Parts: sequence; C-alpha cells; structure tokens
Amino acid sequence: MKELKESYKVVIMGSGPAGLTAALYAARANLEPLVFEGPEAGGQLTTTTDVENFPGFPSGIMGPDLMDLMREQSERFGAQCVQKAVTAVDFSKRPFRVSTEDEQILASTFIISSGATARMLGLPSERELVGYGVSTCATCDGFFFRDKELVVVGGGDSAMEESIFLTKFATRVTVVHRRDKLRASVIMQQRAGENEKIDFIWNGVVEDVLGSREDGVTGVRIKDVVTGESYVKECQGMFVAIGHTPNSGIFRGQLEMDDNGYLITNNGTSETSVAGVFAAGDIQDTRYKQAITAAGSGCMAAMDAERFIEEHGL
Ligand code: NAP
Repeated sequence: MKELKESYKVVIMGSGPAGLTAALYAARANLEPLVFEGPEAGGQLTTTTDVENFPGFPSGIMGPDLMDLMREQSERFGAQCVQKAVTAVDFSKRPFRVSTEDEQILASTFIISSGATARMLGLPSERELVGYGVSTCATCDGFFFRDKELVVVGGGDSAMEESIFLTKFATRVTVVHRRDKLRASVIMQQRAGENEKIDFIWNGVVEDVLGSREDGVTGVRIKDVVTGESYVKECQGMFVAIGHTPNSGIFRGQLEMDDNGYLITNNGTSETSVAGVFAAGDIQDTRYKQAITAAGSGCMAAMDAERFIEEHGL
C-alpha cells in the first residue's frame, strides 16, 4: 500500500457512491484526494445483488461490481483509496486533523460520505439471506418480487412507504410490527390501511428467516409477544424497514446534525456547519437515499471543496 502523506487538500471519508464520485471529481480537478474506505468498503451497495436503477447499465449490474468500477475510475485520475476507517477528527482549526487507528494526517478540506447503515434485526439467517430474498430497500429490490408474497418488518413511515411501494409488484404484503400500534404518521397509516394488498401482524417479532441462498426466502418464523406462541408465515421475501443509523457518531459536538444524527447541510449545497467540511450521500439525506442521488451529491461536495480551496488559496 502506498504510504500516506502528511497532508492532503481533500480527504474523503467513506467509499460508497457519494465518496467515490467525490473522489473522481476531486481527482479530475488535480486535487489528489485521499479516500478512507471505512469499515464497509464500497458501502451499502456491496450488500445488494442486482442494481437495475443506476443509469448506464441497461442490463443491470451487481452492486459490488458497480462499486469496483467506481473505485477504479477514481483511481485512474489519481485518487488514493485506503482500507482504513477514520476514528476521530478535529475540526476546531484548519488544516483539520484526521485520525485513523494508527495514523494522523492533515486535511485542507474534508468530505463526509460515511453513509447510513440500515438497521437489521440481527438474526444470523437474515444476514445469510441479504440479497437472496432479504432486503432493506424496496426501491432497489421490489422489482424482483413480482407476484410474490412479502413480509415487511417495522411500524414506522419507512415500513408503510416500502409496503405501499411493494404492492406494485407483490400479490400480498404483510407488515409485521412488534407492538399493536404503529409509529408511522397518520397519513401513512391511512394509506397502508386502505391498501387491499396490505395486511398486518401485530405484536409479532421475526425470530428466524427460513430459506437458503439457492431457494431464496421461503418464510419467516414469528413469535407473538403477547401469547408467546411461534408460527411460520410463508413468504418469498422479507424487507426490513426499521430505520437507518447515520454514521455520524464521531462528529457529535463538532457539526450540526438533526435529532436522528443526520448532518445538516446549508441551503442545497454540501456545506456543513464548519467551513471546509462538506457532506454527501446518505449521511445528510433523510429523503432519497439512492445510489444515484448519493453520487450526485458526491459530485457537489467535490465541486464545493474545489471552490473552497481556490477561494482560500489552499
Ligand atoms: P422509525 O420512525 O424510527 O421507525 C422504526 C420502526 O421500526 C418502529 O416502528 C420500530 O418499532 C421498529 N423497530 C425498530 N427496531 C426494531 C427491531 N429491532 N425489531 C422490530 N421492529 C423494530 O424509522 P423510519 O420509519 O425509517 O423513519 C425515520 C424517519 O424518517 C421518521 O422521522 C419518519 O417520519 C421519516 N420518514 C418519513 C417518510 C414519509 O413521510 N413518507 C418516509 C420514510 C421515513 P417501535 O414503533 O415499537 O419503536
């Protein structure tokens, strides 16, 4: 691995579509960016199989392949990608101090594209079947479940939205919620409730996902938390919609964020509350969370960083 320099004009944290697009643009602007790939190099797309909604790939592309191509494209123009995670930052003065487990470097500008992690139930069978019938993204994977029966886990707005979306493809969508009352907003509850293809299992906790990578999901084992009984609900897919956790913990106290930990950006730009620090992708996106929107915002962050460097003569 190439040794790290003492300081960089642009340091990027995260290597999903946002980070690697920022790297591509910064590299093409001759800024020789450094990308800390983070604990999950390539980001959330590396946990999916076919990606059919990223423009330019009419036959679809596997998520990990798409991310490999993005990395290769950024490296072609001089981006340096390292398999390390940022463990601490100090934004109190410029250049910013960026630490990994065993090194510290200086950054004139810093682009945060560390993403948000979809929460999962934490079952071994769920992890085994991610991309093989278990998904955390209806927009990405719903299309693969035409004429299938699906289970959606969760009781918030995401679960309602995903369930409603999935009825475009599925014959039946069953929402499994751990309580007897939804957390979702009234309007989303109404919309889901009025949809004839959606029904609900209350007080249900998914204990196990049944199936295999060869056959896909065949059902879920649900425990009724009131009666204590367990039973199998047959289905061909399970969507987990229990929220996302933005990977913003190390910025607490240094950058403005909302109550859920998403970074706040300024007025349609990628600027955060600290000059010279920019945010792109899911870390600042509570709404769209798509690979293509993340890539677009990565481009914005690189352009904002480039302008900042020019304006400040860095
Ligand atoms: P959320 O509001 O935090 O809801 C998460 C849901 O998952 C809750 O019902 C929760 O159950 C359940 N849950 C959490 N952990 C679980 C576990 N381990 N096992 C089983 N169930 C679990 O998250 P969200 O739905 O992603 O929404 C996040 C924010 O985005 C909200 O502010 C929401 O309003 C907003 N949003 C809005 C829209 C829209 O308006 N169209 C769409 C999507 C998201 P409990 O209820 O028992 O806690």
